[in-house]
Amino acid sequence: MAAMLTPLTFAAFSQCPALSHGIFNRHGGVSPAPYDSLNVSHGVDDDPQRVKKNRERIKQSLGVDVLVSGRQVHGSQVQVIAEKPVADVEIAGCDAFISNVAGVGLLIQQADCQAVMLFDPHRRVAANIHCGWRGSVSNIIATTIRVMAEEFATEPAHLLAAISPSLGPCCAEFVNFQQELPDHFHPFQVKPSYFDFRAISRRQLEETGVKPANISATTICTVCDPNWFSYRREKKTGRFCSVIGVRKSEK
Ligand SMILES: [Zn+2]
Repeated sequence: MAAMLTPLTFAAFSQCPALSHGIFNRHGGVSPAPYDSLNVSHGVDDDPQRVKKNRERIKQSLGVDVLVSGRQVHGSQVQVIAEKPVADVEIAGCDAFISNVAGVGLLIQQADCQAVMLFDPHRRVAANIHCGWRGSVSNIIATTIRVMAEEFATEPAHLLAAISPSLGPCCAEFVNFQQELPDHFHPFQVKPSYFDFRAISRRQLEETGVKPANISATTICTVCDPNWFSYRREKKTGRFCSVIGVRKSEK
């Protein structure tokens, strides 16, 4: 009997009866080192059967029927999931997902990058965004919110947002920031060449019209905290995940 997974949750999301969500650390899965143990990625040379089993545990924990994920490319392509897939699906080239379909879990795979999760309680539509520094530079957050507005009439002022564990300002050193990051990111340095990407995401959310009071974030740094997979710390490692979706049945 597998131990119950205990995902990290956000109070603002937990108060929405129509919503399932959770962020799962590296514990409680079946993969061996260096993927120990709850690795969700098929792209890191872990045994596919083990990854499948890990993902099943996550589905069970959240009560979702299927998981939609992406072979993430640090791009800015946003996919709307309009129907429930018959089985779990991983979509190539996609870094953000939006869906109002009950029972569909939108899964972002991470090892230092942020997941930025969104929920519009008025339109009952959820989104999940893979946001590494390249996603921050392209502002995939604004792109995703624009698609929510176009496709679901979401008003940004209604959105609840949450930023997952990720590379913290303590560890986000960008020695080539003059080439890699635009000038308007430079004020987000906490000390020379170290950047606060959570603050950048907050700013990008607020610029689209999300209310500051509706933005939640953790202070967990994935590099500092060994409970999370970290590419910067371990290089060859697994991926943890953040999942959000509309719940199957409201009780
Ligand atoms: Zn750190």
